[in-house]
Amino acid sequence: MRIGMPHMGNTYIPFKALFQRLNVDFVLSPISNRRTLSLGVRHSPEGLCIPFKLTLGNLIEATELGADTLLMPSGYGICRLGYYAMTQEQILHDLGYNNIKVIGVGFSEHKLFGLLKIIKQLSNNAPWIRIISAFRIGLTKLNALDKIERVVQKIRAVELVKGTANKLYAKAVKAIDEADDYNTLKKVETGYINQLKQIDKNPQAQPLIVGITGEFYVLLEPFSNLDVENELGKLGVEVRRRLFISGWTKFSLFLNSLGINEMAKIHKAALPYLKRDIGGDGWESVGEKVLHAKEYDGLIHLAPFTCMPEIVAQNIMPSTKENIPVLTILCDEQTTKTGMLTRLEAFVDLLERKRRARHNNRY
Ligand code: SF4
Repeated sequence: MRIGMPHMGNTYIPFKALFQRLNVDFVLSPISNRRTLSLGVRHSPEGLCIPFKLTLGNLIEATELGADTLLMPSGYGICRLGYYAMTQEQILHDLGYNNIKVIGVGFSEHKLFGLLKIIKQLSNNAPWIRIISAFRIGLTKLNALDKIERVVQKIRAVELVKGTANKLYAKAVKAIDEADDYNTLKKVETGYINQLKQIDKNPQAQPLIVGITGEFYVLLEPFSNLDVENELGKLGVEVRRRLFISGWTKFSLFLNSLGINEMAKIHKAALPYLKRDIGGDGWESVGEKVLHAKEYDGLIHLAPFTCMPEIVAQNIMPSTKENIPVLTILCDEQTTKTGMLTRLEAFVDLLERKRRARHNNRY
């Protein structure tokens, strides 16, 4: 059995560590790129969302590298995600990869123990102690990656030489990938955070604060959103994103099982406008706008084209009384970087004018 799985940001790093420690034969397909997208688009039904198309491209590329058992995130929610694993398996069979099995892994419904049981099966019944130890190192890597990324989001906006934080970030990601024990990981994490904080900054910079909300996959896979956070950083904007995989894992696998609902605050904020879960992350998108309207200068809403939950959220957002500018960006294979950059520049310009107007009114 050779395992493959789709990409989503840096999540391949903890999974790679987990599988390597359990001696599971695991192939890493190329990070999502133009070829991945074009493979996915060519073999997907046209109306499906970009997460389906890009992950299908990843699965095809993993299959080309010899993977025969593919893990695909799944879910029992209202959106189409729950059908993706079986649809993608059928497409792979139609393409002639007859022995491929696509296993839908529903993190939210399986919870921690269910997930560990799947890992046990994949690792040929490895002892629990080894599974837990491998799982722990994966989680530690995940936490380190996210902590460093949070710092990068702040530094990009104020660094004197644009691109310095990104270079350090790339080195940090590589070092975390290569680290093999907790001590090294801790050193890498603290070392890179310190280096990032020492980057020369523009002393006059007062960055705009822009929240990023929207659908899970496009928030976390930079290729699918045309690296929007980096582009905002270049424009001197500090990005705030609620969703990090480490936080989501803590919530879905641990806290939720203990009956703690970290999302309650966001859902409560959305209640006057949307009374229930509508699948995907639509409820959270509305809640985030309401919750952070006073704190952020603006909000970027990332919505995959044809994603029903985000279409609903997009249509509700203009009518909330908590009013901050929102720019919805539809992510799709048709979205071009130049088009997105033009809209980002205009949006940032608008936010700056609003800030200046607020400032002038005060004096
Ligand atoms: S939430 Fe939207 S984009 Fe995400 S999988 Fe479901 S339909 Fe696709």
